[in-house]
Amino acid sequence: MVTGCPASTPSCANASIDRPISSQRCPTLDDCRALDAADPLRPLRDQFDLPAGVIYLDGNSLGPLPHATAARVQDVVRAGWGQGLIRSWNAAGWFTLPQRVGDLIGRLIGAGPGETVATDSTSINLFKVLSLAMHLQRRRDAGRRVLVSERSNFPTDLYVAEALCRDHGWTLRLIDGDPRETLPAALGPDVGMVMLTHVNYRTGAMHDMAAVTAAAHAAGALMVWDLAHSAGAVPVDLNGADADFAVGCGYKYLNGGPGAPAFAWVNPRLGAGFGADDWPALTGWWGHAAPFAFTPDFQPAPGVQRLLCGTQPILSLAALEVGVRTVLAAEPLGGLAALRRKSLALTELFITLVEARCAGHGLALVTPRAPERRGSQVCLTRAEGGYAIVQALIARGVIGDFRAGDAHQPDILRFGFAPLYVGFEDVWHAVDHLYQVLQTGAWRDPALQRPQAVT
Ligand SMILES: *Cc1c(COP(=O)(O)O)cnc(C)c1O
Repeated sequence: MVTGCPASTPSCANASIDRPISSQRCPTLDDCRALDAADPLRPLRDQFDLPAGVIYLDGNSLGPLPHATAARVQDVVRAGWGQGLIRSWNAAGWFTLPQRVGDLIGRLIGAGPGETVATDSTSINLFKVLSLAMHLQRRRDAGRRVLVSERSNFPTDLYVAEALCRDHGWTLRLIDGDPRETLPAALGPDVGMVMLTHVNYRTGAMHDMAAVTAAAHAAGALMVWDLAHSAGAVPVDLNGADADFAVGCGYKYLNGGPGAPAFAWVNPRLGAGFGADDWPALTGWWGHAAPFAFTPDFQPAPGVQRLLCGTQPILSLAALEVGVRTVLAAEPLGGLAALRRKSLALTELFITLVEARCAGHGLALVTPRAPERRGSQVCLTRAEGGYAIVQALIARGVIGDFRAGDAHQPDILRFGFAPLYVGFEDVWHAVDHLYQVLQTGAWRDPALQRPQAVT
């Protein structure tokens, strides 16, 4: 589907002159092939079952299937469940799987062993973390009852925060615009917590985690990070930034499969100081200090473990472990620093090619140009036709996605560049298809305008 399309040879006359790559000359298909040939991370792509004819630029929504996942899940089903039966909770280590997978994820986010658990969904983990943070803040300074976040944050984060604020007499304060300008003004003496998503799901803009955390702390607030679009995609150093809490997603850059368990992290400095009555709002027996003592009262487990609630989905945790290991496979090749270098090269190439080849077609770049302010995705906007353009690309085997705008934000055509499996030639073909869809007006086909349930 993707190969065999006529490759036009556009002029680069419209490329912006301030770009390092385009100031030299527009990269060609051969240049991109050479970049792939020289890419030391290229073999990592072989870990995945990527369908032929597809360029997958939506790993920021659902990571692809690792080859090893089906065999691992089959083994847990047949050997662990089928033969081991209930003995497998001990013999196969099922009972400690949330901690063990959590520790693997910890290696990707600057967390030490015992600080992270893989469990539940991002939404549920956020509920537990925010409720615990509100509880802690009530003890530190009960007058601080404002939770600051961004209006452009992922809605589920805002919904969870909204409900907890309502029930606990807090106020949710949402900032707009460039947070480097609007956040400081929002950090008054009434603020108890700042909750931000490190890489914005719509725009791909990335916060400076250390600087924002320091500003929140200086203002007397606790800092909660959502790493849904960071973990496995960009280097994260939670302990280095001295963040307080974090949550993140298992099915995006961690390749854990649809609805994979998410994760939660607690700063060990905070966790070590948790008292016997510092509970999250969801208290279940897996978060108990001695689940099999079956005491009638709740006595929380130490640190982050009290964030576990009930019996965990072992099949899903096993699949997540395989997914996390596809990212850890980069460790001998330079790890997340090397993945980040490649990711920035991919997004830079995409931006350069779009500007060179699609100029005059009404596209505008939403993602920040400065590399240090960009995650691993590039978002474009267009006054009309965004949804149909993405549908036309998907029909050609280039899978990105679309997020509708509203009064505050534009429509988004979103393209994720997971450096584990996306190559430079993929980028070239993706832009070639985008160019053709725009140039031919193929997106105007009425069949492409019909919205589906999942965009
Ligand atoms: C993907 C994503 C979620 C998903 O939450 P679920 O509970 O898994 O549905 C939450 N927050 C952010 C910022 C995300 O990007």
